[in-house]
Amino acid sequence: MCGIAGIFNVSGAETLVAELLFSIQHRGQESCGLAARNDRGNIFCYKGMGLVKNVLNEEILQKYQGNIAIGHVRYPTAGKSDETNSQPHVIELPEGPHLAICSNGDIINYYELRTWLENDYGFTFKSDNDGELIGRLIAFYLLHKKLTIEESIIEAQKQLKGAFSSILIYRDKMFGFRDPHGYRPYVIGTLEDIPENGEILSDGVVLVSESCAFGIVGAKMIREMLPGEIIRLEKGKPMVTVAVNSGKTQHCIFELIYFSRPDTKVFGEKVYDVRKKIGAQLADYDKELAFGDDTVVIAVPDSSNFVALGYAQKAKLSFDMGLLRNHYVGRTFTKPDQKQRDEGVRHKFNPLPDFFNGKKVVLVDDSIVRGTTLRKISRMLRNAGAKEIHIRIGSPKVIGSCYYGIDTPTKQELIAANKSHDEICEYLGADTLKHIEIDDFGKILHNFDDFCFACFNLKYQYKPEDYHQKVNRPDAE
Ligand code: AMP
Repeated sequence: MCGIAGIFNVSGAETLVAELLFSIQHRGQESCGLAARNDRGNIFCYKGMGLVKNVLNEEILQKYQGNIAIGHVRYPTAGKSDETNSQPHVIELPEGPHLAICSNGDIINYYELRTWLENDYGFTFKSDNDGELIGRLIAFYLLHKKLTIEESIIEAQKQLKGAFSSILIYRDKMFGFRDPHGYRPYVIGTLEDIPENGEILSDGVVLVSESCAFGIVGAKMIREMLPGEIIRLEKGKPMVTVAVNSGKTQHCIFELIYFSRPDTKVFGEKVYDVRKKIGAQLADYDKELAFGDDTVVIAVPDSSNFVALGYAQKAKLSFDMGLLRNHYVGRTFTKPDQKQRDEGVRHKFNPLPDFFNGKKVVLVDDSIVRGTTLRKISRMLRNAGAKEIHIRIGSPKVIGSCYYGIDTPTKQELIAANKSHDEICEYLGADTLKHIEIDDFGKILHNFDDFCFACFNLKYQYKPEDYHQKVNRPDAE
């Protein structure tokens, strides 16, 4: 999972992009980067491992100034975790000018397209990263087919299978484009006032993964990028939709369940609102249970806070913060072995002292993947005196990997793909366990049919085995 940001024709665009990236830091903490184009037409790019505030510090921002800028935060799903795989990528074209690109999502036919460009046209790749492939594919159409930049993006968009929310700088223009299914979030805003006639001037346009980023730079949301849309930003001219090549909409439901920030509006939904409704639905399943004054609803902070709140409000039970989270612990989920993941959970969470004694606990989390987090936490709560533990999960059972940009382990590691419901409940040390059912999202979402539930129902739009990716790309699943 990753995040993208771009700003068009504003002085200090590099600093504003760094601010945008800071507010979508939750989408990737591994590495980040920035490409800025100055008035003389030079594109400078800087990338590094680590957090936005450390990598894109004041000294760097002084050095890499521009009025057109794009940036990226990375959370690796495919490709090694190092600087070469960080984004943006600058693609050098023989006669110049170079193009710069950043993208969020995974390309299923990555290997097929890369091998074709390498073997048949002598392209060389500097990374294993999807963003670079998209850039080189566009460069292929520019150089070898002599198409315009607009036509090149349209052709590349047709060839690419998978998820991509992308931003590109070419000459003095910027392009935003998205895969035909709209898997990953993508919003458009502006630093200017929105005119009544709705004609948005390119200058001051902000492209970013999530709307929660607009506040930090004082931008207003215009709308979401349409699935399959390509937009062009040009100095002094209106923002133009070049084309919309849409397919079956497949927004990622996991963005609403877990990934996006609660203060984001995406896929026509308010994230916090969806999460509260998920909680209320889970409470509905428990209507017959006799939870009383000795029961407390707690979240595994922070991702399930709103689900737990929604549950407690609907069930008329008290919601409390029984678990404290240490914010200085990095991701435990991506640690390479189980021992490190177990230790990570212990470092990350701690129960309040004398809080759980004799209590029945409704313990709410957004998802179970391997089962590491909840097994550790439920043990912690028992040791802290909890009398009963009832685990409620704000997603259906994760039974398949994601090939469109969410980091899910292989099927062998997914607890729900390998154990029965009762076995999982026992493994977690819970008295009862319930997940929200897929169909009940129909009561929550405005457009249920526009969502991808493949990690819960295995209904994949594209399967990686159709494109050799699995065998040939070592870091992908
Ligand atoms: P696990 O401990 O393996 O069962 O993973 C579930 C926990 O990890 C939940 O608390 C989620 O909030 C979190 N989680 C779920 N999916 C992801 C992901 N793709 N990346 C990072 N964390 C995740």
